[in-house]
Parts: sequence; structure tokens; C-alpha cells
Amino acid sequence: MEISVIASGSNGNSCLIEEKDASILIDAGKSGREIEYRMSNLGKSMENVDAILVTHSHHDHITGAGVLSRRYGVPIYVSNEVYSDAKFKLGESDVKLFSVDKNFKIKKVEIKPVLTSHNVSSCGFVIDKFGLFTDTGIVTRQMKNIIGKLKAVLLESNHDIDMLIRGPYPAFLKQWILSDKGHLSNVHASSLIQDKGKNLDLVLLAHLSGNNNSPEVAEKTFETLVKRKIDFSVCSREKESGCWKI
Ligand SMILES: [Zn+2]
Ligand SMILES: [Zn+2]
Repeated sequence: MEISVIASGSNGNSCLIEEKDASILIDAGKSGREIEYRMSNLGKSMENVDAILVTHSHHDHITGAGVLSRRYGVPIYVSNEVYSDAKFKLGESDVKLFSVDKNFKIKKVEIKPVLTSHNVSSCGFVIDKFGLFTDTGIVTRQMKNIIGKLKAVLLESNHDIDMLIRGPYPAFLKQWILSDKGHLSNVHASSLIQDKGKNLDLVLLAHLSGNNNSPEVAEKTFETLVKRKIDFSVCSREKESGCWKI
């Protein structure tokens, strides 16, 4: 399997998973053109994508999904709950609905939705030994149960709690981000890896905030809390991050 991080951060998210039998784009939270451009920088093309999976209806995950789906004739897979929030943003696209409590297949590749906890309906996905979990205020029971079985994870490491508390955001926004339905902090992400990620060989720290985090702070927290040697990278908010084979 090859994992390519095309965009990551509160300013847009998209990740390409290439398996022998199918290529799957998880989220398309930049413009269609930007995603095409970044994919070409990584030697990838939308022409080869079989499906777009969407985690939730926020613009940083869905902005380009409708355009890319129509331009390339690629279906969008979205949960029933997310579809009711996202209908508008997807427009007249080929939409396939799934239920978050059931696995489903894209070609021969099995997809397992995993519940996350956000202020709108949302989920992450497990494909083979890889899991993608962003936009979650807490580590959910479902995430906790599966992470020990994974070899690679793309995990939200959104903010440094002190930077957020001392930072410029209004109180209500700070409260939301810190809540069970907000975003996962550096400490929570790294603690999860340390406590439960016993089989992980690769960690991609993702969905960093531009105001309340920095790649250096996320990296330092990870290195302080995670005692085991694991290959890890902090995904870039500015450009495509790269490709990893597992
Ligand atoms: Zn997001
Ligand atoms: Zn979100």
C-alpha cells in the first residue's frame, strides 16, 4: 500500500491510498485544481482514482469532492449522516451511501468506517493496516480498539493546549476546540500512540492548526511522549507532504 498526503491541516485535507486493487482518495478539502496540481507533484493522477471517501461535511474535507467526482466520473462514498449535512456541497455527483457501523468494499478493498467525535457527524477509515483519524475531540472507543492492530496511522495532532489557551481565538472557539466534539491535541495524539499503538511502524501527525500549533511543537511533544522508535512525520499545511509505502 502507498499513502500519499496531498493536503493536511485546518486549511484543507486530502490523502491518497493506493492498493493493488484500488486507489482511494480520502477527503478532497482543497479546490479540484489544487488537488490535481499537488497530485501531479507526487507523480499521481485523479485518472487512476476509483473512489473519493469523505470523512465529514466541513469545507476543509469536502471542497473539491464534487468537482473532482464530476470531472473524472469517480463516485463519492459518504455515510448516511454525513450526506444529510453535505448534500448541498456535493452537488449533482455520483454519491454512494454507507453505514458507519458496517464495513464495505471498493473493488476488492475493504473499508472500515471508525467513529470519531466532532461537532458534525464524522468518521475515520481503516483500510488494511492503515487508519486515518482526524477531526475528533477525543480518542473514541472505536479508535482505541483498532489502533493496536494498525501498522500505520494518519492521526490528528491539531493543537498545543497552552498555545491555544494563550492564543488569539475567542473564548467560545477555544472551548469548542478543547471539547469532546472539537479537535485532538498534540498530547492526546502522542499519548494514544505511546499507550495503544504497539504495532505501529509509521505515524503521520496531521491536521495541524496554523495558529495554535507548529510542526516543531508537535514533533517535540511526540518525541517526549513516545518512547518507542517509530518512523514519524509531521504533515505540511502548505504543500503535499509526500508518499509512504507500508
Ligand atoms: Zn478538518
Ligand atoms: Zn472538521
